[in-house]
Amino acid sequence: MAIITLQSMAQQKIIQTAGREALGEFAPEFARLNDDVLFGEVWSRNHLLSLRDRSIVTVTALISQGITDSSLVHHLQTAKKNGITRTEIAEIITHAAFYAGWPKVWAAFRLAKDVWNEDTTPEDAKAAFQREMIFPVGEPNTAYAKYFIGNSYLAPLSSEQVIVSNVTFEPGCRNNWHVHKATKGGGQMLIGVAGRGWYQEEGKPAVEILPGTVIHIPANVKHWHGAAADSWFAHLAFSVPGENTDNVWLEPVTDKEYKRLKP
Ligand code: MN
Repeated sequence: MAIITLQSMAQQKIIQTAGREALGEFAPEFARLNDDVLFGEVWSRNHLLSLRDRSIVTVTALISQGITDSSLVHHLQTAKKNGITRTEIAEIITHAAFYAGWPKVWAAFRLAKDVWNEDTTPEDAKAAFQREMIFPVGEPNTAYAKYFIGNSYLAPLSSEQVIVSNVTFEPGCRNNWHVHKATKGGGQMLIGVAGRGWYQEEGKPAVEILPGTVIHIPANVKHWHGAAADSWFAHLAFSVPGENTDNVWLEPVTDKEYKRLKP
């Protein structure tokens, strides 16, 4: 399912009609170049550069020219649709300020604030996180909710050979201390997918998990994993086959322990 999503994202062709609508009669060749070449070909090469990255390039280019009219608004809206979050657009424009110029980014911030303004409900934040991730967020993780602080979501990816799920945590969400027991083999492997999170073994410092980070959790070791306080987070969880496997859930990770981690 994830591969189908990836392929459909990569092969997605951008349909643009703005040129023909605005200038189709007055400047038909310009309209064709705008709709069929700029959007139909260049923007559609999203197997070479993602739509999200193309949005960052476009927004930055417009801001640096001081173009803060309806075309920037359009491209900010597109950037949001392509998965750029409130936090990210604020960082992109802040970074651009030093190269593009202070007054230009002031103007851009006023527009960006409006575009991302309504994006404050948890549902929108979850949808924005989904757009930056190829694996599904899945359904509320109700079966294990009693072993988590905060809301988590579960998307089973594989139920054969190796059991794999994508687990998504809202900011601040983490699972209780727990142990993956086994008499032989067993344990768990995590691979960071999106956002930023933590893994900690008892008695050891917490390890940051970013997209692509691989964590090997031996059987019979007490540990927890979850999101950073200020970031959504998702990891793949692989159940390593073993003998007499069992998950033992223990006490929650207290706020005191959790707040000790670097922000
Ligand atoms: Mn675990």
